[in-house]
Amino acid sequence: MTADSSPAVVAGGPLFGRIAFIGIGLIGSSLARLVAEKGLAASTVCTAKDPQHLVDAAELGLTTDTAATIAEAVTGADLVVVCTPVGAYEEVAAAMGPHLKPGAIVTDVGSVKQATVRDLGPFIPEGVHFVPGHPIAGTEHSGPRAGFADLFRDRWCILTPPPATDPAAVDKVAALWRAGGSMIEIMDPGHHDRVLAITSHLPHLIAYTIVGTATDLEEHLKHEVIKFSASGFRDFTRIAASDPVMWRDVFLNNREAVLEIIQRFTEDLTALQRAIRWGEGDKLEDLFTRTRTIRRAIIDARQA
Ligand code: NAP
Repeated sequence: MTADSSPAVVAGGPLFGRIAFIGIGLIGSSLARLVAEKGLAASTVCTAKDPQHLVDAAELGLTTDTAATIAEAVTGADLVVVCTPVGAYEEVAAAMGPHLKPGAIVTDVGSVKQATVRDLGPFIPEGVHFVPGHPIAGTEHSGPRAGFADLFRDRWCILTPPPATDPAAVDKVAALWRAGGSMIEIMDPGHHDRVLAITSHLPHLIAYTIVGTATDLEEHLKHEVIKFSASGFRDFTRIAASDPVMWRDVFLNNREAVLEIIQRFTEDLTALQRAIRWGEGDKLEDLFTRTRTIRRAIIDARQA
């Protein structure tokens, strides 16, 4: 299937010949928009599960072509970007593995990286490069219409290539993200999963818990929670509106790191509970003062 729009080509030629996007939701469509805008590929193709989303992708001109199957999408692609929820990786990998072109690069955008290596790695044939990635950027919205090319600007993108990966393949994937204004960090997958457990996964779990607790309140209280939500609750509801399937897969596939950080968090919460019970204001004030400086550091790093 072919759409009308063809991407511009940058001076010196595009970075890739053909890019295949497996999944064209928030992240896939944002990257596809970026590639089209900057002319980073001579041609692009996407596939998704719901055929209506392929119709949407063609209508929006996200890629030059659309493909009904994963096998069709990856055939002849120089770069394959897996943009599905992590729980689909094994199925996706089995479908694409036999059709990957020698010399092609496979990357992804998944929020957990040890599971990426576990589920995609065994299906990458000899002679195909594997450069797992994770853009630290997103919103609570999903689907091909939710994406925008600027999503990755001034955000970090973490790459976790296996040790023996060809540095030229890593450089090409890094160049793709840099073209969108991202900064690159190379990391070990296990370290990535521990860092993200605290910076992203635990905050989402807390938001889901708070909003879940509010949902279970008696009717009159629930009404007032909505009415006075600007006092703090509202910010949690935005995070708790994130895609349920994506986040189910994140927790199931980063189990150990998340359980470890929940344990630490629970201990710290218990310490706060005790300080409140015994009127230890100095302990509360000391913690709240320290946390304020973290916020300032994030603003200074332009990640707020
Ligand atoms: P999304 O908007 O829900 O898009 C997911 C895409 O994957 C859809 O196009 C979906 O197709 C497709 N898909 C699902 N299962 C598939 C399968 N078995 N075969 C082919 N296509 C399949 O999700 P997203 O937010 O873009 O997230 C995608 C990935 O990015 C996830 O791994 C997530 O961890 C990671 N990530 C997300 C964020 C964020 O904030 N959202 C940030 C960084 C990284 P249909 O809709 O047609 O079923």
